[in-house]
Formats: sequence, structure tokens, C-alpha cells
Amino acid sequence: MTAGKPLLLHACCGPCITVVHRELTREGFDVTAYFYNPNIHPWKERERRLETLTRYASDMGIPLEVDGEYPLEENLRLLLGSADRCSACFSDRLEATARMASGMGIGSFSTTLTVSPYQDLSRIIRAGENARDKWGVEFIFRDYTPLYRESVRLSREAGMYRQPYCGCIFSERDRYLRRR
Ligand code: SF4
Repeated sequence: MTAGKPLLLHACCGPCITVVHRELTREGFDVTAYFYNPNIHPWKERERRLETLTRYASDMGIPLEVDGEYPLEENLRLLLGSADRCSACFSDRLEATARMASGMGIGSFSTTLTVSPYQDLSRIIRAGENARDKWGVEFIFRDYTPLYRESVRLSREAGMYRQPYCGCIFSERDRYLRRR
């Protein structure tokens, strides 16, 4: 069997990687997942998402690289200091992924963030393209939002933990404000 084209996949959680890994593999990519999400607050929530992802990656035989740091202060400074915190958040995560791919000698990178219909794809594309230009690795963008419902179904069937908010402490608050 011929090896696929190596790709480093920024992975935010277990549920989102289900369909993205499947589709990229079908396209012929040889996927390694990378967990770099200092935007997930608090620590326990980050651990829960990481555990879910780790279990799924292990079950599916997906190689997984994990960034072990948790620079909470730095991340809060980044988000608070930006007029558009989601763009800053996407840039931080995709730049780290492109940098990691470059360091590992992997020529392309992508992200599971494009499954969620709640994310702004144009901002993700901009962040991915900037990271590509900075680190010289190809950014593979696919709009996976049509597969969102399927990712929900697959993750429920697998008994996975499904997070109730995007990640940062601001999004944790906003989910309650929206309900009021
Ligand atoms: S809402 Fe989500 S994408 Fe936006 S800053 Fe918070 S964690 Fe990042």
C-alpha cells in the first residue's frame, strides 16, 4: 500500500475529528493529529476534551501529538488584548500547528474547527493562510459543516463527551447569557 500525503491535523476535540479524519483519509492524506488548545478553560474541561480525543485516536490508530503546556495567563492576555478574540484564537492555534508541521517535516496542515457551524469559516481561512505563509506549509481547507450532524451522531453513538461551549471562559459565560 502506498503511503498517503502526510498532514498534521489540528484537533480541538474527539467529536469533531470523527468525520474530518475519515474525509481526509479518503482523500489520501496520512493524518497525524495535534492537540494544541490553550483556549480551553478551565483546566478540567481541557483535560476532559483531551481524554476523549486521546481515546478516540487510540481506538482508530491515529497518531496524536499533544502540547503539554497550558499557558492560561498568556492565552487570556491574547484574547483580552484582541479586538477580535476569535481571530486571535484561530491564529494562535493554526500558527502553532503550522510551526509544528514544519518542525516535523510534514508538508501540510488542516484543522477540525471547520466542522462547526458555529465558527466563522472566513476567519479560520485567514488564520490558516497566514500560518501557511509564515511557516511554508500547505494549508488544506475544507468546509466540513455539512457533516456536523453526522459528527454529532457518531460521537453520541460512541458515548463521547460533547462539550457545551466553544472553549474560552468568555464562551462559557456567553452560553448562559444567550439563554436569558
Ligand atoms: S469563542 Fe471559541 S474561537 Fe472564540 S476565542 Fe473563545 S475559544 Fe476561541
